[in-house]
Amino acid sequence: MNQQRIGLGYDIHPFEKGRLLTLGGVKIPFRMGLEGHSDGDCLCHSIIDALLGAAAAGDIGKLFGVDRPEYRNAVSLHLLTKAWNTLKKKYRIANIDTVIICQEPKLGGYVQMMKKNIASALGIKESAVSVKSTTAKKLGEIGKVKAIASRAIVLLIKK
Ligand code: ZN
Repeated sequence: MNQQRIGLGYDIHPFEKGRLLTLGGVKIPFRMGLEGHSDGDCLCHSIIDALLGAAAAGDIGKLFGVDRPEYRNAVSLHLLTKAWNTLKKKYRIANIDTVIICQEPKLGGYVQMMKKNIASALGIKESAVSVKSTTAKKLGEIGKVKAIASRAIVLLIKK
């Protein structure tokens, strides 16, 4: 019998001047980027946590924490591949759904490229990956363009 396992991930990063904005491995032109030990790609980080969560295999901090100097300025899309490599012998991915909560910049034009990057980093079909974006309706810190957050949910099937 197929055993299905669901996983949830959430991440938020504050904006920082002088950094590049990277989401889903796509470099997005904007006046600021996201702060972080790695490239600050909160979309990739939320997917990593969802994958690890589904397998009950800890979290991103355990795997690529700030105490690991080798992951300083790491490309998070590569961390996504690395995290999945620890799980893919036991599981396959049924699907991934995500939502980025971002007031600015507008992300609609980049979503297709993000999907493509994520599918390729995980070795799955693009049709198994969903990336959506929404604003915070100008509410709270995200609404004031101080941060971007992302939520991800994944379904793994035990091999
Ligand atoms: Zn993060």
